[in-house]
Amino acid sequence: MTPQDNRKLKVFECFKSIQGESTYAGRLCYFIRLAGCNLRCSYCDTQKALSFDSHTEILTPEELTQRAVSSGCNLVEITGGEPLMQLENVCVLCERLIAAGGMTVLIETNGSIDASSLPPEVIRIFDWKTPSSGESSKMNLDNYRYLRKCDQVKFVISNRTDYDFMLRKVKDFSLFRKTENILASPVSGSMDGAELISWMLEDNFPGRLNIQLHKCFKDVL
Ligand code: SF4
Repeated sequence: MTPQDNRKLKVFECFKSIQGESTYAGRLCYFIRLAGCNLRCSYCDTQKALSFDSHTEILTPEELTQRAVSSGCNLVEITGGEPLMQLENVCVLCERLIAAGGMTVLIETNGSIDASSLPPEVIRIFDWKTPSSGESSKMNLDNYRYLRKCDQVKFVISNRTDYDFMLRKVKDFSLFRKTENILASPVSGSMDGAELISWMLEDNFPGRLNIQLHKCFKDVL
């Protein structure tokens, strides 16, 4: 392997679509989905990308940046699987995307790996695993201690236990003092969104309901 090969990333897929989640929901976005994940959540909807060997391509940060630029999108999300499993090369990819200019770079991570070495321009979306995922004990809690105002924290809610867990973490980690981007995301098909809204109303929960837009329009997206 040459040093250049060492800088390659295992990619599951790249595509242009509508951003379905986060405060960027509804915007056109270029997605770079990397292969491999260190967790096995009960409700995972990207099972095909979980194995490190599920990659369909192996590309350099430069090649991926070229694709993102060619997409014409000014929003790029690096996701997975768990993108931080390829942390060193993901940092290089983020640097290249930022240097290309004009793009907001998001990274969605499961929160189990230290994200502090990502370039500061990158907006980090942490998926804080709730009890129903079966993986809530795997979080790297420093990620939540050192949140920045621009970062976002998503809690995927399957039931009341998950919702109460979210309330506890929000309080224990003073999350709203760090960012107002706290997202409560009902699991599609198992959590009634109306019920989640009623809990949020009851508690005056100042976070944001995070509906997965891409699942509402799965025939076209
Ligand atoms: S972290 Fe994400 S990709 Fe990994 S198993 Fe959980 S839901 Fe699936």
